[in-house]
Parts: sequence; C-alpha cells; structure tokens
Amino acid sequence: MSKRDYYDVLGVNRAAPREEIKAAYRRLAVKYHPDRNPGDSEAEERFKEAAEAYAVLSDPNKRGQYDRFGEAGLGGQPFSGFDASIFGDFADILGNFFGFEGFFGGGRRRSGPERGSDLRTTIAVSFTEMASGTERQLSVAREESCEKCGGSGLAPGSKPETCRGCGGRGQVRVSQGFFTMVRPCPQCGGSGQIISNPCASCDGAGRVERKRQLRVGVPAGIEDGTRLRLVGEGEAGMRGGPAGDLYVVVRVEPHDLFVREGPDLHLEQEISAFVAALGAELEVPTMGGTEKLKVAPGAQPGDTVVLRGKGLPRLRRGGNGDLVVHLKVTVPRKLSAKQRELLRALVAEEGDRPGVFRKVRDLIEGSG
Ligand SMILES: [Zn+2]
Ligand SMILES: [Zn+2]
Repeated sequence: MSKRDYYDVLGVNRAAPREEIKAAYRRLAVKYHPDRNPGDSEAEERFKEAAEAYAVLSDPNKRGQYDRFGEAGLGGQPFSGFDASIFGDFADILGNFFGFEGFFGGGRRRSGPERGSDLRTTIAVSFTEMASGTERQLSVAREESCEKCGGSGLAPGSKPETCRGCGGRGQVRVSQGFFTMVRPCPQCGGSGQIISNPCASCDGAGRVERKRQLRVGVPAGIEDGTRLRLVGEGEAGMRGGPAGDLYVVVRVEPHDLFVREGPDLHLEQEISAFVAALGAELEVPTMGGTEKLKVAPGAQPGDTVVLRGKGLPRLRRGGNGDLVVHLKVTVPRKLSAKQRELLRALVAEEGDRPGVFRKVRDLIEGSG
C-alpha cells in the first residue's frame, strides 16, 4: 500500500512555512480526534496519518530528506525512535488519547517530596453568631503520616530497593503503534523504588487515613463565603513533603431584620405618618438589644437615621460599622371615629396648602 504524500495529507503546498504546517495539522487533529469520532476507524486512520505527516514535515532535517528522496529518504522507518515530544505543542487537543497520562507533564520524576493535597469544607453560622464571633468543631477525615514508619512506608529495619522495571529512573519508554513515549513506571508508580517489605500499618503507603477533630475560630464580622485557611491541616505530604492546607468556607445565614453591607447594617423601621410629622423617640432593635432612635419632626419616607458604631465589627480596622435605619412612613388604612374627627380638623386647618398631611387628607377624602 503506497502512502499518500505528506503535503497532500496536511493539505498544504510544498513551500508552506512551518507555521502553516502546524496550523494545518492542528485543524486535522481536532477534526479527526478519536474522542470526537468514537468507533470511527477511518477518522482514527486520518488522525494517525496527519500525525505522521506532521512529524516529518515539522522537522527541517526530515522534511529536507523527504523533499529530495520521498519516503525512501526517511529510510523506510520514519517512526522508529519517533520522539513524541513534538506533540507537546498539541497536548490540549491530543489529550490522553494514546494513554499519555503523566506524559505531557514532562519527564518529572515522582520520587521527591510531594506536598499533601488541600482539603475543603463548609460550615454555616447564624447571623448572630457571625456578629459576635464563634467557634466550630470540625470532623475532618484526612491522610496523615503513618506513625509506625514515620511516613517511609518501610517495615522497621528494611530499606527500599531500586525498581527493576525502570532501573530507578521512575520512567519507562513504551511503544504504541508508531509512537514511543515516556510514561511513569507502572511497577514503582514513578518513584524508582520498590518497597518489598512494607510497613504493616500503612501497607507501604506511608500515610493512613485518620479522623480528626479540629477547632476553628470564626472571627466576628466575617463576610458570607469567606475562606478561612488552616495552614498544614490538609493531607500529609509524601516522602517528607509538607502537608496541604485546610480551607473552611464560612456561610453566614441571612437575618430576618438586618441586611449587611460590609460592616454596616441596614434596618427598615415602620413609622406612622402622624409620628413622622410630629417627630419622636423610638426604640429600634440592634444586634446587641435595642437602642433609642430620635426621629426629627417632618421625617419623610425613605429618610435614614444613622446610629454610629451600632453595625458589625470591622474585621481589620477595628471598631464597628453603623446601623442605618430606613424610615418607612405608613399611612393608616383604618381610622377610629375619634381619629377621623381629629384628622378632619387638621385638614381643615391646613386648608389647600400642600403639606405633610396632604397624603393623609387625600386618603381620607378618597375613602369617602
Ligand atoms: Zn507505615
Ligand atoms: Zn520503576
């Protein structure tokens, strides 16, 4: 079976610059990627064909040989010792189609210290708890360093042996079709060492799962969704690496009365139109109890009165935010006979001049 011309495969002319060849290959690799064409052997053939063409035409030496002598110039075995590293450019599209897991991460040996994973958990606190600060007990299941072997995974008195599968390198070369690639050694998992006499307590893993009770302090005034970081309280590291961190996401439940805006609290306070007109001293709720609030005569709907320092604790700057009271001036829907009589007198007194009682009068007259 004679092969198609590599330039034809990629759909480029013989003078095409390297960028154009690369772009053409990328297009084809995306189009014929086996993940997109499951079970389509034709697409898989095209995918491999394009990879082969790209491998030759992207290499100036091989391309020169191919241009002069055709396929014969490549010695008939263009892909022996094919170095898959050229596909590093295309890791995003090739994914792990060829079983490349770990490959595109580069030839990183996994024998050195490795940091433990971070953990994450969520707690909920009430608005009131948030305002004063609180504490929570957490139950965390995590990998901890094995106490029996000190994290080495070795039985007492034994030593690790060099892996025979990879000669201690942690990597092996694998041929798959025309690819040769480097993968973590399956025998030692990439560590380059074999534990033939493992610690009985952790089965050689060096870590064991433990449930821990941890206390976490929730600072007063914390915002909903804040992430608290407990350094070193995540999973234990491997081979002497540091532990990961534990992140605690704090959810603050909303309050029935107060809405927060940073350290400031907002409260809606109903007040009758008569009281608003006359001015008054009211009792309003605060986080700590109640507080006297002075409303000046002639207060209008939507007016705000600020109680300084009656908001939430400021996390960093110290002190407290304010409590902002929004006046909701209400007009009574029903009046007693006596109230009606008094209001009629008031309205008569006010005459036709617009004023505070205009609304009230309109209402009374409107209702008959
Ligand atoms: Zn152990
Ligand atoms: Zn090995």
